[in-house]
Amino acid sequence: MLAGALVLTALLAWQAEDAALSHRRAAEGVLRDYAGLAGHEFLRRARNQTDYYAFYPIIYMLSAHERGSPGGTLPDPEVLARSARAAARDRLPARSFYRVDLASKRVVSSPGAPPDLVLWAGEHLPGLLAERASGEGEIAAASFAIAGKPRTIVYGVSPDPARLALAFEVDPLDLTPWFRKALAVGPLIPSSEKDGKDRNTLVSLGLEDAWGREIFRSGGAFDPAFGISETITDPAAGVFRGMTLRASIARSLAPRLVIGGLPRSRLPLLLATFAVASGLLASAILLFRRERALADLRSDFVSSVSHELRTPLAQIRLFAETLLLDRIRTPQERRRSLEIIDQEARRLAQLVENTLQFSLAERGTITLDLETRDVAGLARQTVESFLPLAAARQARVTAEVPEELFATIDEGAVRQVLLNLLDNAVKYGPAGQEILVRLARESDAVRLSVEDEGPGIPEGDRERVWRKFVRLDRDREAQQGGAGIGLAVVSELVALHGGRAFVEEGARGGSRFVVTLPLARGVVV
Ligand code: ADP
Repeated sequence: MLAGALVLTALLAWQAEDAALSHRRAAEGVLRDYAGLAGHEFLRRARNQTDYYAFYPIIYMLSAHERGSPGGTLPDPEVLARSARAAARDRLPARSFYRVDLASKRVVSSPGAPPDLVLWAGEHLPGLLAERASGEGEIAAASFAIAGKPRTIVYGVSPDPARLALAFEVDPLDLTPWFRKALAVGPLIPSSEKDGKDRNTLVSLGLEDAWGREIFRSGGAFDPAFGISETITDPAAGVFRGMTLRASIARSLAPRLVIGGLPRSRLPLLLATFAVASGLLASAILLFRRERALADLRSDFVSSVSHELRTPLAQIRLFAETLLLDRIRTPQERRRSLEIIDQEARRLAQLVENTLQFSLAERGTITLDLETRDVAGLARQTVESFLPLAAARQARVTAEVPEELFATIDEGAVRQVLLNLLDNAVKYGPAGQEILVRLARESDAVRLSVEDEGPGIPEGDRERVWRKFVRLDRDREAQQGGAGIGLAVVSELVALHGGRAFVEEGARGGSRFVVTLPLARGVVV
């Protein structure tokens, strides 16, 4: 289910991102359309400007000159410009003039005209004009590669009955003033009055001729994401035919052209959402695993406690039945049976007590009944009461305990601590071992230690063994009885006394479990 939820989240995130992306693509498409619109509007105006305000006046002046001196020499463009009327007084964009007699194909040029062009005019202009059937009164413009050089020629047929072709060369770079005028006419894209004036500066425009030369540029840098770049193929485009037009819209204009502006990418937000969902999934799995582990531990615990209870109970029942059925022959046997029943009953009591303390500790409700007591006397008594259990496993217990040592303790708890340590020493030590119990005063604490001849606790496990349910692997594998709560109860009870419990290596290779209890402790936990 959780994985399903995650997959669903991923799917939704992907959907949202996809929607945002297509929204963005649509918005970019709209902006590109606007850019195209602006570019073509510019071209249209630039054509008008150059045709009507640059080329026609030149042809007009040239025709007028022709009428004044038919068949004469052609004037230098500069000279002609000086005599022109105010309307055409901007620097005339003509570089050189040509006149071709369509009948004889004789070419006359203005002073300084490049010989290549003179030759070209004689050879090609009559043909070019013939292509244009209704050539009279109209002008055409086109770029050609003439002797390897790009040349732009404007040409037309004079209305004169002699059918003369008039032409001039233009450098497109000289057309900049007319391009500027085309921009100044008004906004290239429809706009409200408020921002209409400056809008053209937010449109990037660029013209490049067929040879890669930049002819015109305005606005900021070209942005292909919001723009168009196309080669002008329209035969009616005149000088612009073959050129490349680039137009793009500035990003800042987007909110005014597309409702809601350009949608921002949601990717970071979606990724963060997905990361949070994955995190939640991971922690849910972790919690689930912990829950499982805890449930396993609990069931292990219940089965091992029952297992531990079973052995002493079986013993008690066996010897009680033997006694009841009068199968005992000697008084010694009778005493032995009773002793075993007593031992096993004590073991049971200890086990039950441990389990009870553990469950209290789990709930945090253990309370100590602190009183100033003679710990030495208590230790001696406890060891004594344990002797039969030790003897049953062929272990001797030696107690090195002072005459008297008073401390503020809970008697029951300290007895339980010592019994648990003794029980472990017997359980994990070899048969025939000697267990050493030492009690001594150590500055303002009581130090109680139990040392055995068993396998000891590996250094890496010395912290761990005090935790609940922890059993060393070797004992788990050996199917040694135990629920893993004995040391946890010891550690809890000692901590409640304000003391410390730890384990170290004993002098004889076994382990030495040590607890220290403060001599006096005023606080009752
Ligand atoms: P239990 O004895 O019920 O398994 P404890 O909490 O008393 O649980 O002990 C935890 C583990 O520590 C034991 O399973 C055992 O592996 C190890 N241990 C405890 N006391 C000794 C000892 N005296 N010698 C060696 N190992 C011990």
